[in-house]
Amino acid sequence: MTPAQLERFQAKLLKERADAEGRFAEFDDVMAEVRAARSGASADDEHDPEGPTMTQEWSQRSAVLADARTELADIDHALARIEDGSYGVCRNCGKRITVARLDARPTAELCIDCARLAR
Ligand SMILES: [Zn+2]
Repeated sequence: MTPAQLERFQAKLLKERADAEGRFAEFDDVMAEVRAARSGASADDEHDPEGPTMTQEWSQRSAVLADARTELADIDHALARIEDGSYGVCRNCGKRITVARLDARPTAELCIDCARLAR
């Protein structure tokens, strides 16, 4: 991998990191609203018709948060690998991961062959 390619992937990862962090911030706002609505509802009426909707909203948002958290961790790993020079090298077999694969999935740590075997 050339320094220019590495730089391109680093920029791409940093942008994805910013996007994932944006989803975190958005999540915090929504959760604060849901919590406020929930405590208000339970104080007024236990059988509030908004109840199930809130729960659904909550679990959907939790799933989004879990995804964003995994994504952030993957991105941080990839950025660390760029720093230590192991980026683009398969963690399993040590072969180069193709640029086409990294373009599609910049956080990939396995080459396409190992990724298939891991499944
Ligand atoms: Zn491999």
